[in-house]
Amino acid sequence: MRLTLLGTGDAGGMPLFGCHCPRCATARTDPALRRRSASALLSVADRHYLIDAGLTDIEERFGDSDLHAILLTHFHVDHVQGLFHIRWGRGDGIPVYCPNDTNGCADLFKHPGVLQFNRLHKYESFYLDDLKITPLPLIHSRPTLGYVFEHERQRIAYLVDTRGLPPKVEDFLASEPLDLLVIDTSFPPGVDNTNHNNLDDTLALQQRIGASRTVMTHIGHDLDTWLSDDNNHLPDTLLAGHDGGIVFP
Ligand SMILES: [Zn+2]
Ligand SMILES: [Zn+2]
Ligand SMILES: [Zn+2]
Repeated sequence: MRLTLLGTGDAGGMPLFGCHCPRCATARTDPALRRRSASALLSVADRHYLIDAGLTDIEERFGDSDLHAILLTHFHVDHVQGLFHIRWGRGDGIPVYCPNDTNGCADLFKHPGVLQFNRLHKYESFYLDDLKITPLPLIHSRPTLGYVFEHERQRIAYLVDTRGLPPKVEDFLASEPLDLLVIDTSFPPGVDNTNHNNLDDTLALQQRIGASRTVMTHIGHDLDTWLSDDNNHLPDTLLAGHDGGIVFP
């Protein structure tokens, strides 16, 4: 099981349109500092599963034979905007697993094209090949699922977008060793938001869940600039994700 973060930004991304702060100025010339919409690629042997579809260049990144399924966390635009292009593609179709959200986004359900939507239910595990996937309910402004992936005694969680976690989800995560936790951390310490974690929230969750390693994603502009300040430090077990970074194994 290999997990690559393709995008680690929030909906605004880095650099932020119209912002002339030093961090954005540097990010405009250094591609390594860019943050695109939060998304990831989970690979098991030669099977590849895209987690969220906010990237708008999916067609350029993947051929139709090397993308085997798409898992959506929710239907906010920064997690699905890439689907509006690829749905008009050709081929046998691609399975898209998603929360049971009757609205979806714009006309995706009305005109799915090659996208084959499958609605998931919380805590009902299923398999893609020999990868076990358990959808978990998150705390966000519309129906949202995080995912736990289990394969060959390895267990990793991808939890985006959320502010905190339902107690039952924390118990589920802590019930067995967790090798990696990838979690929405959009804001710097002290910034209160009902839909996304700040760094304090993530530090507290990490303590309670006890993952071997925690990686932050969905990083917003202000957290990004906070992290780039040499005076600010993270504990050794907490990492800031970056676009293209392989975070597991
Ligand atoms: Zn800026
Ligand atoms: Zn969202
Ligand atoms: Zn988002």
